[in-house]
Amino acid sequence: MQYFPCPFCGPREETEFHFAAEAGKPRPEPAAQVSAQSWAAYLYLSAAPKGEAHEIWVHRSCGEFFVMKRNTETRAVLATTALPGRDAE
Ligand SMILES: [Zn+2]
Repeated sequence: MQYFPCPFCGPREETEFHFAAEAGKPRPEPAAQVSAQSWAAYLYLSAAPKGEAHEIWVHRSCGEFFVMKRNTETRAVLATTALPGRDAE
């Protein structure tokens, strides 16, 4: 069992978390003019790097979304931070 550090609650079991999205992926705009192929790529494709990754995760227990920097190869969590405008206490 791995523990992830929620910026709001502290370390919790990984089963309490859910991957949400790749962090820093720009939404194509204006959406009405984006091709279906480009929109599908935005929604479903990710860089999926081997090594350091920046991802958005949600802690289902508190409902907060946050950024997790982790190494996908070693599974080490390098940092977790609240999203801009959401202050962790
Ligand atoms: Zn939490």
